[in-house]
Amino acid sequence: MSEPSTPGPETLAIRTQTRRTAEKEHSTPLFLTSSFVYDSAEDMAAAFTDDSLDVNIYSRFSNPTVDEFVDKVCALEGAEAGVATGTGMAAVFSIFMTFLNQGDHILSASAVFGSTHTILTKYLPKWGIASTYFDMTRPETLEALIRPNTKMLYLETPSNPGLDIIDLAWVGEICRRHDVLYVVDNCFATPAVQQPIRFGADLVIHSATKFMDGQGRVLGGVVVGREELIYELYLMTRNTGPSLSPFNAWVLSKSLETLHLRMEKHAANALALAQALEGHPKLSRVKYPFLPSHPQHAIALRQMTNGGGIVAFELAGGVEAGRRFLNQLNMISRTNNLGDSRTIASHPSSTTHSKLSEKERLSVGITPGLVRISVGLETFGDILADIEQALEKA
Ligand SMILES: *Cc1c(COP(=O)(O)O)cnc(C)c1O
Repeated sequence: MSEPSTPGPETLAIRTQTRRTAEKEHSTPLFLTSSFVYDSAEDMAAAFTDDSLDVNIYSRFSNPTVDEFVDKVCALEGAEAGVATGTGMAAVFSIFMTFLNQGDHILSASAVFGSTHTILTKYLPKWGIASTYFDMTRPETLEALIRPNTKMLYLETPSNPGLDIIDLAWVGEICRRHDVLYVVDNCFATPAVQQPIRFGADLVIHSATKFMDGQGRVLGGVVVGREELIYELYLMTRNTGPSLSPFNAWVLSKSLETLHLRMEKHAANALALAQALEGHPKLSRVKYPFLPSHPQHAIALRQMTNGGGIVAFELAGGVEAGRRFLNQLNMISRTNNLGDSRTIASHPSSTTHSKLSEKERLSVGITPGLVRISVGLETFGDILADIEQALEKA
């Protein structure tokens, strides 16, 4: 007799269902309730003596719709447990507050999301927590930056917006050797493309706002990892209150059912766009993880199933050309979000990263003419045509 096979990732994303009510609804029910009732005073008392993740007391602590979203992310990332948060930044801040103490040091990739950079440099020092950066493009310098009080190593791969990639398994070995908590923001790849826990990450975080929602509707965040770590995080978040709304969890849970299908199409469109643009006379560089010209292409092939949905390119004409390009777009949206079914263009040096100095921008790979395209699901010819006509005039 053959062993029962484990369900595939698409099946897990579609069929993981935490609750079905007595109404026997087929689709995921939405438990839009702030609290839960008890049959007796004794049941109520018992719920409050139990700090487990299983009893529903109050939706700041747990909620069945939120649990379903978390269970799906755990299944997709290969994680034991998770906690959902109202935004990606709430997830980032909550892990810092749970696992870092006064006197600790965090070593972070320099190319991290802008608000993460602000927490590291502006707020953590208020609580006596020091941070330093390592350069994703010079991984050989990383290990020497670990200090005796380094508690956490934090990174994003591919990075935003430069699409730098680091060898997840190699970093995992360094973290184990130095007993450092290894945290990966997997927002750009999603678990459909890359599962950092397989490569040794202790905690994986997401802004669910991006590809997980996939249609630019709701904000959300999630942290998944080993049970004992998540339990500590849960005890912190149920008191500090960054909870995800059950409504947003319902939207996200339904969205995950199409994550693999969407990521395949995002990546197919992104690869075709990167290939079509490479060598364009107005561009000095096109960057995409699955282009052989990407500096860490071999690592990308090892740890990602496709190149993801983001393409970056550098306009030879610098800042002004970047602005002109954005202004010439007809269909493609000028907005800062990413991971939407609609193709989005942004120009980091004049928008998201304009508050950094030129030197700081360059140190994280943001050159003046860098444009980031979050490649959507429209007909490919329409995406390419809009970009080509805007490049003509840029
Ligand atoms: C957007 C984003 C975040 C923050 O998520 P929010 O949901 O906007 O709070 C964190 N990390 C990365 C890589 C992101 O793209």
